[in-house]
Amino acid sequence: MNKALFLDRDGIINVDHGYVHRIEDFEFVTGIFDLCRLAASKGYQIFVITNQAGIARGYYDKATFEALSTWMANVFAEQGITIAKVYYCPHHPSKGINEFVMPCNCRKPEPGMIMQAQQEFSINLAESIFIGDKPSDMQAASNAGIKTRILVDSRYTNEPHEVKLSEIIKLDALNQASKYIE
Ligand SMILES: [Mg+2]
Ligand SMILES: [Zn+2]
Repeated sequence: MNKALFLDRDGIINVDHGYVHRIEDFEFVTGIFDLCRLAASKGYQIFVITNQAGIARGYYDKATFEALSTWMANVFAEQGITIAKVYYCPHHPSKGINEFVMPCNCRKPEPGMIMQAQQEFSINLAESIFIGDKPSDMQAASNAGIKTRILVDSRYTNEPHEVKLSEIIKLDALNQASKYIE
């Protein structure tokens, strides 16, 4: 069984400027490459788990998202880091303009994307880590049975939420996460 480092994208890999879908708007978060290199050295496979309701809303399409993901993975590769797979949810339950407006089991806080990775890569979720910047990231990780759940402070973490802070690790910045990569 493999262990995984699951990363939210917007706010964790790239600065969350809102529905980022162009290379010129993709600004890597300080420390993300060092963190991923550390995780890889300790045997973690690295996955991206991202809600992309901008697709349902018609702000960009799947092909645009996938092209950006390929570019992103290539930048990681240049840094010596393999991204095993990018999982994304194109849906929104109610808002949007196309066939992706629908309820689904992949949009976080649902655990669908994590469970798909678990099946495709034989991941031991109890030995895995999720890093996100929204309470819904922590809920998805909890719903999937991931042991180590790390919430990096963002404008979203001050909103009311149901995540028990005693059950997660809350950090001021991503570059503080390295000591939890065991
Ligand atoms: Mg995020
Ligand atoms: Zn979905």
